[in-house]
Amino acid sequence: MTLEAPTTKRRGRVLVVDDSPATLASLCELLYEDHEVIFATSGQEAIDMAHSHNPDLILLDVVMPEMDGFEVCSRLKSSPGTIDIPVVFITSMGDDVDHLQGLNVGAIDYIEKPISPEVVRVRVKNHIQMKHKQDTLRGLTLRDGLTGIANRRRFDEALREEWSRAARSQSRLSLIMIDIDHFKLFNDTYGHPEGDVCLARLGETLAQIAADTMGFAGRYGGEEFCLLLPNTAVDRAMEIGEKVRAAVQDIAMPHATSSYQTVTVSVGVACAKPNDTQRSGDLIEAADAALYAAKHRGRNAVVEHGFVRLTDGAVALAG
Ligand code: GH3
Ligand code: MG
Ligand code: MG
Repeated sequence: MTLEAPTTKRRGRVLVVDDSPATLASLCELLYEDHEVIFATSGQEAIDMAHSHNPDLILLDVVMPEMDGFEVCSRLKSSPGTIDIPVVFITSMGDDVDHLQGLNVGAIDYIEKPISPEVVRVRVKNHIQMKHKQDTLRGLTLRDGLTGIANRRRFDEALREEWSRAARSQSRLSLIMIDIDHFKLFNDTYGHPEGDVCLARLGETLAQIAADTMGFAGRYGGEEFCLLLPNTAVDRAMEIGEKVRAAVQDIAMPHATSSYQTVTVSVGVACAKPNDTQRSGDLIEAADAALYAAKHRGRNAVVEHGFVRLTDGAVALAG
């Protein structure tokens, strides 16, 4: 659940899918010098590997027993985790029906058998370059420029993903909302550029805590941040909320116009066991309500949303 640095996979990882060991061997031989090559020999294996290994390109045979290449491609293109991986079909020479069907199910290109080694090498290289450019752009649209952590758009996406995952696995999902105390006064006292420095420090601190807790940190907007914690019950989420509050106070950034004399944050914590009757927006509202209560408690405080505690130790969001 991290935001991958756009330049980590320069060589590019290619997933080659073919039920014929001979074709697989020749394609792997062709590509392994310039790329990391992984392979699958059936449609289902290809789908599993696409999810687990996140390749930059898939070379996909059309004719395979059980699940053919078109079906594999359709499934990859209908799953959020694999929709952006470009697929190139390996088709029979001159078979326009296959070519057209491949492009119609979402493939970016096709390569004809018998394979011309040079054509394959160049096409693969070009498609991987294009994928890297796309990844870089995606990184820019999903990252907050000032703090380097996920922006609101990416956070919303992560919340939706984690909400459905938690609903499927019947696990708990916690959300921590964090808001800087008297930040308007901070800006008024030290100036907007210094305010930006403060936001960046907070982003760094949250990124560190997210890494330590398997969480996902984002800038929710302005001077409000959030930390999403999959598989985390409310008591643990409260501990992490307290860790955030204490970590910010420990940075000890001067804030002369606050009663605490240093920059502090208020923290709201909410936890849910997602089910069909709740929406992910309920979790945000609950964490926000808890944050509001923390402000009223005098700021620099951590407050848990008033849950209905269920007998199995889980919690339901109070209505
Ligand atoms: P409270 O303790 O109730 O949260 O008070 P507050 O002053 O922090 O809250 P308020 O919502 O009144 O003010 C938020 C301030 O955050 C105002 C706005 O200028 C500042 N802010 C929002 N985004 C940025 C930013 O990107 N950079 C800087 N420097 N300031 C920002
Ligand atoms: Mg504030
Ligand atoms: Mg605010």
